[in-house]
Amino acid sequence: MLKAIFFDMDGVIYDSMGHHSIAWNKAFAALGHDFPLEQVYMNEGRTGSSTVQMFYKEKVGRLATEEEIANIYTQKSEFFESMPIPVPFDEIKALMERLKNAQIAIWVVTGSAQEQLLDGLCSDFPGLVEKEKIVSAKDVKHGKPHPEPYLMALRKSGFGAHEVVVLENAPLGVESAKAAGIYTIAINTGILADEILWRAGADVVVRKVSEVEDMIFQLK
Ligand code: MG
Repeated sequence: MLKAIFFDMDGVIYDSMGHHSIAWNKAFAALGHDFPLEQVYMNEGRTGSSTVQMFYKEKVGRLATEEEIANIYTQKSEFFESMPIPVPFDEIKALMERLKNAQIAIWVVTGSAQEQLLDGLCSDFPGLVEKEKIVSAKDVKHGKPHPEPYLMALRKSGFGAHEVVVLENAPLGVESAKAAGIYTIAINTGILADEILWRAGADVVVRKVSEVEDMIFQLK
């Protein structure tokens, strides 16, 4: 019995991954490092500090200092906010309205701490997304691929894992949701091969949410 959909935000609700990948790429380039776009997509879902640490461990051979993390993340956020505001994918609002009518709860579970997008959620989806039904980077210690974000959403919402379906676009997001024991639909809106999402453990991989919409309502 389906009680709730847990939406990832970037790349599922908002067509924002292009912006994020360019912003990360520029922030690292400003320090003389190359962080290719594909790597950004592979690491999507990590918190900002985890993304920086992953890069430093792999490419610099040591951990980044708190100052370095803050510096890169600030730059990344500034680049991000200098770009046009990302817009929601076309089909998402209609899906949310249909969920609301069917009394299926709408939660957002994101690794982002990007104020601009978090503030935008409630105003872009009035009556559909509520602030208290958002789990963001600020609510967890461990970002995706750790299961904590999705476990936190289960705990806050009071739903069992079997009563929820996750919509994710990123391999680490799929890993996080599956580790929390939740049925996970991957919507591949980015540049990675579908195979990567299957390997991350997705139960289904599609390109558009409309391909699975009827299936979602059959679960009700
Ligand atoms: Mg995403």
